[in-house]
Amino acid sequence: MVGHLSSVDEVVEVTNPSGAGDFVLVCEHAVNAIPPELDNLGLNSDALQSHIAWDPGAYPVAKAVSEKLDAPLVAPRVSRLVYDCNRDGAAESAVPERSEAYEIQGNRGLGEDERKARADQYYAPFHDAVTGVIEKRIGEGCAPVIMTVHSFAPVYDGETRDLDVGIIHDEDARFADAYLSVAEADATFKVQRNAPYSAADDVTHTLKEHALSRGLLNVMVEIRNDLIETAEGQQAMAERLSIYAKTALAALVDNACSKSKPNPICSESASGDNLIAGSVEAGTG
Ligand SMILES: [Zn+2]
Repeated sequence: MVGHLSSVDEVVEVTNPSGAGDFVLVCEHAVNAIPPELDNLGLNSDALQSHIAWDPGAYPVAKAVSEKLDAPLVAPRVSRLVYDCNRDGAAESAVPERSEAYEIQGNRGLGEDERKARADQYYAPFHDAVTGVIEKRIGEGCAPVIMTVHSFAPVYDGETRDLDVGIIHDEDARFADAYLSVAEADATFKVQRNAPYSAADDVTHTLKEHALSRGLLNVMVEIRNDLIETAEGQQAMAERLSIYAKTALAALVDNACSKSKPNPICSESASGDNLIAGSVEAGTG
């Protein structure tokens, strides 16, 4: 198989493509797979298992959330080191030559045509798939909320990161504000706005490309990866994140003028009943 050109199905995975809920999920750093023709980009297995190659735990959480919210989920089937689908194609970091302590030999000295070939093969089909599921929902009369799911390392550069879940947004903070209020009211996790990353770190590319461009509600969720190492941890996290998502959406709707509901409602039942005690107040102040 060495040297063969991957087909779209080999580079993008769409879970629950017919999902009819209020959300569309994206997990850009789902896997650490390197296509065989790239020869592991010259990295050893320690590097490939580490968080430089992917967001450990994020994909199983996103899949469980996809099930709970009946949401389509789009993820690339290749590592962010092959092509980081959450980076502007013009960004150096889309095909990094270095990540933390590691030199990415297979990415060094690529010409413009080689970078473009990577973009054509991995970035374009991924974003086409995201566009596809969003446009499908819009065509069905729904303006879905876009939610991206990531994980981060508990310790970075020798420093412990003192949060469990980061709620990140770009210029449109409507949904992130509501989500943060609900998560803070619930108090299961230590949550923070725009941490450990923010839009200034160039991490909101997917949101800008697919949500801000269409005026859709959106949020990026970053989970500390030691909380989602096990299947139990992943399920528990997915359960909370799904409740926050539904409750935040319901709170936004409740706060809107009843004559002109905001556009995110896809289903008739965006009600937050029986979700989190106190959540009705969340986001009102
Ligand atoms: Zn990530």
